[in-house]
Amino acid sequence: MAFSILHWLNYVSGTTKLQQKSELAVKADHVLKFCFDPELNHVQGRVQASMRDRSYHVNITLGENNTVVDGICDCVNGQDKCHHKASILLYGYKNVSKTDVRASWSQHPKRAPPKQTTTMEELFPPLPNIANYRATTRPVDETDVAFLCNKLNALGQFSAMLWIVSKEPPSPTLDVPTVEDLLLGEGYTGATDKIKWLKTNLAISKEKIEQVAQMTAGQRNNHLLALVRKNRLTASNFGKVLAAIRRNRFPPSLFKQILASYDLSTKDAIVWGVSN
Ligand SMILES: [Zn+2]
Repeated sequence: MAFSILHWLNYVSGTTKLQQKSELAVKADHVLKFCFDPELNHVQGRVQASMRDRSYHVNITLGENNTVVDGICDCVNGQDKCHHKASILLYGYKNVSKTDVRASWSQHPKRAPPKQTTTMEELFPPLPNIANYRATTRPVDETDVAFLCNKLNALGQFSAMLWIVSKEPPSPTLDVPTVEDLLLGEGYTGATDKIKWLKTNLAISKEKIEQVAQMTAGQRNNHLLALVRKNRLTASNFGKVLAAIRRNRFPPSLFKQILASYDLSTKDAIVWGVSN
């Protein structure tokens, strides 16, 4: 069976919109792919969407008496009549010759013009009178910055810049020795039995532990906790150490993990754990 204009006419009959849209689409080269199998009376194609940067797959089976038995398109109207299917039918009529051979066309996928990035400046060009505005002709110095900060601070919460201009809150300090400090300190380098010295000095009293717990509420976001935990075997990595001892294998990756060289905070599993 060959394609007849009647396939298309029967399909679009009664709807001028379908007729017009499919004619326009074929004229505009919107049929990107076309493959007709005369033995199965089946046609497969791809049609560029009219307004969007995408294309739809169309499958049509032709029936007796120039009808369409079955047609699917993956656009929103795909189960019903749509102009993509009509376009394929019209394209078939215009391009499939009368000889019953498998016919296939594929043109270079035509896409909407590449998306362009528009900057804020391009979207909202500054008015000419404020484009190069300067409040003063002399160079800005520290006093000017302090003056502005004071003014903004006086506005309080009404100024969105309050947090930027406010002074940083004093950060609390912990007198828990960090492993790094201990290892780099004179006590360690001067000690005769280094292991014993380290064991004694690493130990933290119960009060200290409670103090750390109080000050580091909020845990993982608290940089103090990160500081204290660094290089110590904590609950989160203790299991790995035990496993390594059991296997009697101590790969470099183990030390990397313990010494916190791996940043796992962006891994999906960790992100999930943090946000749930
Ligand atoms: Zn469609």
